[in-house]
Amino acid sequence: MEKGKYFEQLSRKEQCFLNFIDRMGNIPPRIEVVLEQTSEALSLVCPELGIGKVELTLDSPANKLYPNGLSGRRMLFSNGIVDVFHPYVQRFVTEEGGELIVEFYKKEATTTSEEEDFWMAMIARMLYLFLGRARISSMLRMSMEVDQGTGLPNVAEYLRRMAELIERGVIMDYAACFFNIRNFQYINKLVNYQSGDEVMSQYANKAAALMKSDEVLARLGGDNYVALVKKPNLEAFLDALDVLTVDVAVHSGVRTVSLPARVGIYEIDRQQIHPGEVMLNISVAQQICREGKGRTRVYYSQEMSQEVLYEKKVSLDFNKALEEGQFRAYYQPKVDLSNGRLCGAEALARWERKGEVLLPGRFVPMLEKDGAICRLDFEMLRQACEMIATWIAKGLTPFVISINMSRWHLREANFVNEVCKVLEEYHVDPKWIEIEVTETVDYEEYQTMINVLTTLQEKGFSTAIDDFGSGYSSLTMLHKMDVDVIKLDQGFIWEQTDKGNIMVRNLIRMAKELGIKVLAEGVETVEQRDFLTESGCDMAQGFLYAMPLKKEEFERRAFS
Ligand code: C2E
Ligand code: MG
Ligand code: MG
Repeated sequence: MEKGKYFEQLSRKEQCFLNFIDRMGNIPPRIEVVLEQTSEALSLVCPELGIGKVELTLDSPANKLYPNGLSGRRMLFSNGIVDVFHPYVQRFVTEEGGELIVEFYKKEATTTSEEEDFWMAMIARMLYLFLGRARISSMLRMSMEVDQGTGLPNVAEYLRRMAELIERGVIMDYAACFFNIRNFQYINKLVNYQSGDEVMSQYANKAAALMKSDEVLARLGGDNYVALVKKPNLEAFLDALDVLTVDVAVHSGVRTVSLPARVGIYEIDRQQIHPGEVMLNISVAQQICREGKGRTRVYYSQEMSQEVLYEKKVSLDFNKALEEGQFRAYYQPKVDLSNGRLCGAEALARWERKGEVLLPGRFVPMLEKDGAICRLDFEMLRQACEMIATWIAKGLTPFVISINMSRWHLREANFVNEVCKVLEEYHVDPKWIEIEVTETVDYEEYQTMINVLTTLQEKGFSTAIDDFGSGYSSLTMLHKMDVDVIKLDQGFIWEQTDKGNIMVRNLIRMAKELGIKVLAEGVETVEQRDFLTESGCDMAQGFLYAMPLKKEEFERRAFS
């Protein structure tokens, strides 16, 4: 402050007080610095005011913004007096419901004058204001580092701590983890939303208790957490996470629920690494863990990143490739086992990409992830219809072509209409198209599937259950659904054990009694064919007869 003529006219005490405010107002609002500076400033003012000792007690309770609270008593100024004379005490209630107490002690055993009381009150009030500013600004800082729901560090703080470990050259001592609680939705169903938050905070506390002092646990948001764990502690940490439980209050009392997590782990193997790259690697591993059924831990490897990059590329390239006609239907003949004649075909997608022919295994799973598969299915349907239309135009009797339809279509209310529209466009009768779907374990999906398949049949399509016997619901499906064909999964035929043979024989018999035709997939040997024929299987498809063929090759075989 510019101390001009007016300042000179003030009393000594007023000048002291203004100097005090001046000093305090110019320091960064950090509690420790404020206290230090206050001590210094008080040592200038107190002698002037006849004050021998100033003590401060701060009781700031722990809260979400300030997990450890801030409490304690400290001496701000003392001129060495031991005797305590007439304390002058000022109490303040702080914003977070705590208390700030400032106590002044006179230098001598005289009572204070009104004027002195006034100055002490002013100093105490200023202290309260400066400390308030410091507390609020440190809470703000904290709120930028701390997750509000749990009091754990947040992701920004996690990355900062990681950067620090990299800087210190010790990052290779650590493994980074990314974990997601497996059944947290279940908790939210069990209790209301607010108690869900409490359970989350209970989980966070228990997980935090597993950490050593030089390790870090942070919450990303939702039920996702990240950690930095010393490599020697890693296995123990993961084992403990596996069996972590929380107590949930429900109507009937308290229930202990175990909340295992799916964890992606990256054992940091480079000194020079960017925190962002560590984050990326653990998310990749976690994503793979999430997709792999039943797996609870996945350790990151370089190939995983390449795989993920490849998947990204596939989904980025897909739309353009589809428009450019890079996807082609290949047709694998189906054979009537009673006479060995070709009796239809299955359309299987092939991606002709830069002179390479990619099999569905290289792109179907990725397209299945976001539903892009639906567009591919319709493309196959169109190509098949176009082919059938040319046969009809040439006066040939068409073969039934089956199309694989992803379960994603079941979510589309308009699905059957869309299929019919394509057929109308090409003037193809639905009797020449068979729709293949795979089994499902999801009950709702299963109900929709029954409806969709029934409607398709009513419209004149043939319907088939693909990969029959590879899932869990096969028999239930037969019981509830009217389908025309079941396609026995390759696995059945490959495993030619006594038990397997009994099952195949009886499945075929049962299907026949239910009026369903049976096709065996993946038939590769004469022995398999003979066994199937003897068992009464209607049709077969497999390398023994033909690979999936280009359209021209299929037509050559079909009509010669
Ligand atoms: P899928 O529908 O069960 O098709 C049969 C798969 O078995 C085909 O694999 C076929 O080439 C293969 N296969 C046929 N005969 C034999 C054999 O004798 N031995 C062996 N080991 N394999 C044989 P592909 O073409 O690689 O297709 C794999 C899967 O990809 C298909 O299984 C199907 O689920 C899916 N897929 C293919 N095209 C499409 C499509 O356009 N849409 C949808 N949604 N899925 C498709
Ligand atoms: Mg199929
Ligand atoms: Mg199949």
